[in-house]
Amino acid sequence: MKLTSFAILFIVIILPFLFITGHQLTIINEDTMLRAYYDSVIDNAVQDAAFVISQNAKNFSYGSKSDTSAVKELAVQTFFDSLYHSFNVHENPASMTRVQFCAPVLIFIEEDGFSLYAINSYLNEKNYTVMKHCWFPKKHYIGELLEERYSVRYTLGNRVYVFDTVTSLFMEGEYTEFKDDISFFASRESFEVLRNNAIRQSIEREFALYIRKYNNLRHKSNFALELQFPVIDDEDWVRALNDVGLLVFAQGFPVLYGQKYEHYALGGARVIRKAPIVGYKYYDQPYYCRTSCNFYSDIIGEDSGNTIYFTHSVEAAKNGYYPCPYCRP
Ligand SMILES: [Zn+2]
Repeated sequence: MKLTSFAILFIVIILPFLFITGHQLTIINEDTMLRAYYDSVIDNAVQDAAFVISQNAKNFSYGSKSDTSAVKELAVQTFFDSLYHSFNVHENPASMTRVQFCAPVLIFIEEDGFSLYAINSYLNEKNYTVMKHCWFPKKHYIGELLEERYSVRYTLGNRVYVFDTVTSLFMEGEYTEFKDDISFFASRESFEVLRNNAIRQSIEREFALYIRKYNNLRHKSNFALELQFPVIDDEDWVRALNDVGLLVFAQGFPVLYGQKYEHYALGGARVIRKAPIVGYKYYDQPYYCRTSCNFYSDIIGEDSGNTIYFTHSVEAAKNGYYPCPYCRP
């Protein structure tokens, strides 16, 4: 075969493939941008909701007797309003429903328990099946039985509720008050491991139950997709368990290529704990420190006006802050 024939062969056979791959590449790029856009829309909506919660922080602090249901309702509505505005569907009921089904589960994390705000199915007054978000009953953070007799209910903080199954006595207090009876509470580290596991497992258990329920009733709506248990990074779990806030699972936004869209987002309201990382300006340069850093407290001084708190050093770095060379946060 002559060289020109090879050239023609190349043009006839190979070129269309090059064109297709180029075209596919464009789709993949656009798909990546679309997914990143959804991520940011959901993250922003969760932050908006967390802001509402933090504005009403006093209702959620320990020992507050105020009813939190109105604030919780406002927070979830803020979340959805933010999504409707981002997708420009706030006057279109059908599209709004579609958006609602893309975020079927919101988990509201409170000091002494959590509640799901999730899609449920019920019959309305005209006997039609309706699928809408509803509040599920609040659940507590229950850990495993300790010393073979103590059933412990945890909170996001240091407070615990202990039920002694032998004497049937119910007790309440800081975990340190129980260290003589419960050896695991003798050190902060082992207490925190137990507490974080109890909170995480309580939420996971409830969420898994809900997923089963949702997948059974989803045939009642055209919008409902099969729900899967999301894989959450350990680091994000620790962040979620740190404070009152909202944990949101989103899925099923239309994509152009590849796997279906899934994303989870966390919005902590920083109600209970002062965040461990503080950001500030020093000679016009943004830095971040541990809140315990001597350099920060001596030179900058607490609350100098333009300080900002972060729950994690990664969060500070992402926002363009540099680590302090003294406390190496
Ligand atoms: Zn420092």
